Amino acid sequence: MGSTGSIGQQSLDVVRQHPDRFIVDILAANNCSELLIKQAKEFKPKVVAIANEKHYTELKDALNGLGIETVAGDKALAETCTRQETDMVVAAIVGFAGLRPVVEGIKAGKHIALANKETLVVAGEWVMQKAKTLNVDIIPVDSEHSAIFQCLEGEKLNPVEKIILTGSGGPFRGMSAEKLKNISPSEALRHPTWSMGPKITVDSASLMNKGLEVIEAKFLFNLDPSQIEVIIHPQSIIHSLVQFTDGSMKAQMGLPDMRLPIQYALSYPQRLSSSFPRFDFAHFPSLTFEKPNMSTFQSLALAYQALRKGGNMPCILNAANEMAVHAFLNHNLPFLHIPRIIEQCMEKIPFVPSPSLSELFETDHLTREFVNSILKT
Ligand code: NAD
Ligand code: MG
Repeated sequence: MGSTGSIGQQSLDVVRQHPDRFIVDILAANNCSELLIKQAKEFKPKVVAIANEKHYTELKDALNGLGIETVAGDKALAETCTRQETDMVVAAIVGFAGLRPVVEGIKAGKHIALANKETLVVAGEWVMQKAKTLNVDIIPVDSEHSAIFQCLEGEKLNPVEKIILTGSGGPFRGMSAEKLKNISPSEALRHPTWSMGPKITVDSASLMNKGLEVIEAKFLFNLDPSQIEVIIHPQSIIHSLVQFTDGSMKAQMGLPDMRLPIQYALSYPQRLSSSFPRFDFAHFPSLTFEKPNMSTFQSLALAYQALRKGGNMPCILNAANEMAVHAFLNHNLPFLHIPRIIEQCMEKIPFVPSPSLSELFETDHLTREFVNSILKT
């Protein structure tokens, strides 16, 4: 799901390296692009799905005669995740749009390799509960969560005191609010250590990415918010840490390369060999750490607030952030107004303490409409 994006393309790279292990049954993206057609011709999936129905004829014509089924629209795209031949869904669509395929996949008993963190931010309770009931594995692809997942292997009976999520700090680490006032989208899109899609790159610059990851971690690892800390580690070598109740800490390290957590999620519990570049201590004489500045980067503080409040609050936070980031990327909103929009939504959108899945869809919709009305004025 999301095969043409940063994670999608790297997932296909992993498949390319292990043609004997993995078969691609489905490719799905938002639009019919040259890249999607190229991927379809190379991997010969059973079905190619696009969300945007306007591109359907273009997709159908491009794949005509290849024996590949084509479908279009959100619902048809999500339905492909329920098909019998599929063992695992790689959830790599960006944003709230990634939730529905995961929901359908889980209901059909498919294991999920989860890159789309928004799924757990919006519906963490529902997703983890349903996955548990149906014996579905949710295996994190997000590098920090993959790190923690790896550190917890073999520790099932040992209680965790806390986890520490590392973050690079993004391109604006150390900058004052005054300096951040006139940041342009192209400046925010220059990430120092990771090459990713535009939405997550802006989230990394505002530290909202770390905020979303704190919420993601709470649901994945069933922790109290007070057990989840964030530390800035600009070199992005230590991908995260777990501290156990005896005080011992375990960390997972490596060069920043998303193909590693993707491959681990696909092959779990096995490790497959890879030719990805190796870490060399000589190139990193020092690894450094600092506390995040939550008064300048308010989005991270807002994410903790949403997590503590619970209910549909993380869903409100997520929808407001998606809309605000979109507006920022279109030069319609200053960078520092992103957290202001989120804060207004968290105050104004009705709070639901134990939302059903359909109430979460409703919350997302209401929040987006409210942001549109703010942006218009
Ligand atoms: P991206 O923007 O590069 O790719 C997004 C993909 O989703 C594309 O294939 C696009 O066609 C598809 N898509 C977008 N909207 C869609 C819709 N409405 N319906 C169907 N498909 C749609 O994003 P990315 O960087 O690959 O990130 C994907 C997800 O993985 C995000 O949730 C992100 O937070 C998470 N993630 C990414 C990275 C990374 O290194 N890129 C790391 C950790 C987590
Ligand atoms: Mg991450």
